[in-house]
Amino acid sequence: MADTKRVWLFEEGNATMRDLLGGKGANLAEMTNIGLPVPPGFVITTATCNEYTKLGGKMPEGFIDEVKVALAAVEAKIGKKLGDPADPLLVSVRSGAKFSMPGMMDTVLNLGLNDATVESLIKLTDNPRFVYDSYRRFLMMLSDVAFSSSTNHLSKHHFEHIFYDLKTKWGAKSDLEVTGEQLKELCENYKAHIKKEAGHEFPQDVIAQLSAAVEAVFKSWNNDRAILYRRREKISDDLGTAVNIQAMVFGNMGDDCGTGVAFTRDPSTGNNEVFGEYLMNAQGEDVVAGVRTPMPISELKTQNPAIYQDFSDICGRLENHYKDMQDIEFTIEHGKLYILQCRSGKRTGPSAVKIAVDMVNEGRITKEVALARINPELLDQCLHPVIKPGAKFTAIAKGLPAGPGAATGIAIFDAQRAAELGKGGEGKRVILVRADTSPDDLKGMLASEGVLTERGGMTSHAALVARGFGIPTVAGCSSISVSDAKREFTIGGVTVKEGDPISLNGSTGEVIAGTVEVVNPEMTGEFGTFLGWADEVRKLRVRTNADTPEDVALAISFGAEGIGLCRTEHMFFDEERRPIVQAMILSDSDEERKKYLDELLKFQRHDFEQIFLALKGLPATIRLIDPPLHEFLPSLESLIEETATLKAQGKSDPAKDDLLVKVRSMHEINPMMGLRGCRLSIVFPQIVEMQTRAILEGALAAKKTGIDVHPEIMIPLVGHLNELKTVRADLERVAKEVVAEGGEIDYQFGTMIEIPRAALTADKIATEAAFFSFGTNDLTQMTFGFSRDDSDKFLKPYVEQKILPGDPFESIDIDGVGQLMQIAVEKGRSTRPNLKLGICGEHGGDPNSIAFCHKIGLNYVSCSPFRVPIARLAAAQANLADGGSGRDR
Ligand code: PEP
Ligand code: MG
Repeated sequence: MADTKRVWLFEEGNATMRDLLGGKGANLAEMTNIGLPVPPGFVITTATCNEYTKLGGKMPEGFIDEVKVALAAVEAKIGKKLGDPADPLLVSVRSGAKFSMPGMMDTVLNLGLNDATVESLIKLTDNPRFVYDSYRRFLMMLSDVAFSSSTNHLSKHHFEHIFYDLKTKWGAKSDLEVTGEQLKELCENYKAHIKKEAGHEFPQDVIAQLSAAVEAVFKSWNNDRAILYRRREKISDDLGTAVNIQAMVFGNMGDDCGTGVAFTRDPSTGNNEVFGEYLMNAQGEDVVAGVRTPMPISELKTQNPAIYQDFSDICGRLENHYKDMQDIEFTIEHGKLYILQCRSGKRTGPSAVKIAVDMVNEGRITKEVALARINPELLDQCLHPVIKPGAKFTAIAKGLPAGPGAATGIAIFDAQRAAELGKGGEGKRVILVRADTSPDDLKGMLASEGVLTERGGMTSHAALVARGFGIPTVAGCSSISVSDAKREFTIGGVTVKEGDPISLNGSTGEVIAGTVEVVNPEMTGEFGTFLGWADEVRKLRVRTNADTPEDVALAISFGAEGIGLCRTEHMFFDEERRPIVQAMILSDSDEERKKYLDELLKFQRHDFEQIFLALKGLPATIRLIDPPLHEFLPSLESLIEETATLKAQGKSDPAKDDLLVKVRSMHEINPMMGLRGCRLSIVFPQIVEMQTRAILEGALAAKKTGIDVHPEIMIPLVGHLNELKTVRADLERVAKEVVAEGGEIDYQFGTMIEIPRAALTADKIATEAAFFSFGTNDLTQMTFGFSRDDSDKFLKPYVEQKILPGDPFESIDIDGVGQLMQIAVEKGRSTRPNLKLGICGEHGGDPNSIAFCHKIGLNYVSCSPFRVPIARLAAAQANLADGGSGRDR
């Protein structure tokens, strides 16, 4: 390692060196080299931090000597020396990883102060208050990060207690009322406290101070909050942090000094105007700590027009240089402006889109750069209600962000009551809170502003329904404990009872006690322009998973190019139809069953006609019934309970007893592997025969209005060619009958690839299928053997312990599930070269999975309506990432 350069002067680096110098260091280097007023300094590499960790927390040999050489260069440039009692240099020591981790790691300011340099600085500045204020901050900061431990009292808050007690003794109401003399006394107190707690004097040797500060920053890479932050943000633990050492400039040396933070454009609206705040006579931490209220940057224009002009010129130069909106930290020292940091500014979805489109129009960036720059997930904020930007709140719990958008309302603990009180009922804003949800809860869910569940993963029922209907939902929030009996949930010491107001942020998984203001983001013209550019670039088509004409219309307005999955069983859950569906299932004879199926045919024919009308000529993949039939019947547990209660009361209900016998006979130990999908079509062919007829008759009715119709009938859960052959042969017969009765129609039969065996034998399966759609929810479940409804219990620890890189139900497991998909694509096309290939599992809306689908050559992805814009952008980015090459769609 010794032959690699560990320490880089700012002028030796540049913006491309983020891996080695961290984001902050690379940008300080870049700004230095383009001639901006950056105080001189140097960067210790991320590799050195990793070396330190590998050595078990020891400084690498020779490293401090390298630091001394760089320090000497900085000293020469500035004409001051660290620790020089005549004219001392002071430095800041700041962390800076490749990706910004705001506030997670340690920082030390004013390093180089000791009893001797304090005296000389007082002489030089004639400002003892400023000098002792800097010293007391330094004593506290270095002790806090370098010397504190669980067995001593050297954390920041211990020092703040000492200060607080002294302020009370002095009768000072705020820090600003404390005199220089009193701050000197405070420093003496601090030093005595450090000696007592640390067992040694506060180091007066400045190199010892520097070494302690650098070591503390290295260590802070692995503090608890940094680890947690990385886990959330999916940042690798192996990157390490760089350390930036920079000459201090002071914003707190008088009224011609100040400090602030500003964005080159407004980060919430994207408007092209400098946005930010500043404080005169202050250090950065005063702004953060909220001790004083900062002023909007526009005030600087009147307060100090020359500085404002300088600052706004620099904003322009930085934007021009980086071709992106920048977040800038600055300090004014005696009327001179210094830039201490710049980075690409964090922004909301709507502002990201506006900035990208404006920058293309201003000729700063190309459309391709604009498309590549925005994280597709950010677009979600352009579609759903959001918590009013700037609103203050504290989350009481965090679950899975299962249905994006924000919602606020009163907590209601059963679906029936939610339906009575909510939308379509009394019109109150309600949040449905359940331990988990089932199809029975649908009505309550639809009446609610948002849904919160204790259990269930990203593909649980609640999550699927929520995303499908655009209901903000937090699922799998295992830290809350829901009691249906008491109609309340608890978390820690907080109890939320029925009727109490709560709010959810389904985009982040946050649960908030009380009400927050929720607003609808505006669909701006830029949004359409931006997605139009994505459409020019992408090769993958984007369809939607939708079961109702309303959802189809919504998805089309978001840019969907057809239906990739219509789950027809959802049409059976309607209140009016459910009794007919139940009677059909419970029929004792084929004749009786046919009677009910004929009734259902009328409903389904109308459903499909409406869907084809809404599609206006776009194609539709319609899946035949998939779930086990008992899902449409009352649960076995509730029937047992009801009949037992009647018996205990000496009563009986023969119809209920009958129902219990039937439901018991249909009970399955493992229904997800049981009588469902095409197996159901083989055992009860009448149901899918009715559905096929309904689809084609509905399509023919729509065709009569003059629109094109392209039904693609999909047979689910096929594992063996013969299953598909059997079902298809039967349904082709029905199709031919309909055509003979009603006229020609462009229909196809295809299948889902949801079972590993189907993927492995795709060459055979393709002989009977015009198209494949990857059902990656089931394919993931069957490949891993993980139940998609129960896996949240172990997947969380799996991901935390890095047993898996992420939840495979969210993003395709490329090595396993992905390999099966690739095999299916190759084998399928080997026997049917024009095989149409798509994906309709939840992964169809996940940007990483979409990139994989592009790579293996699928024709389209399909996702819930609200993810359509995300998929359009992700598909464009996937094509840009492989150089824009691709297939014709
Ligand atoms: C799938 O399994 O990926 C799929 C789309 O079907 P469902 O979620 O309805 O089982
Ligand atoms: Mg499935």
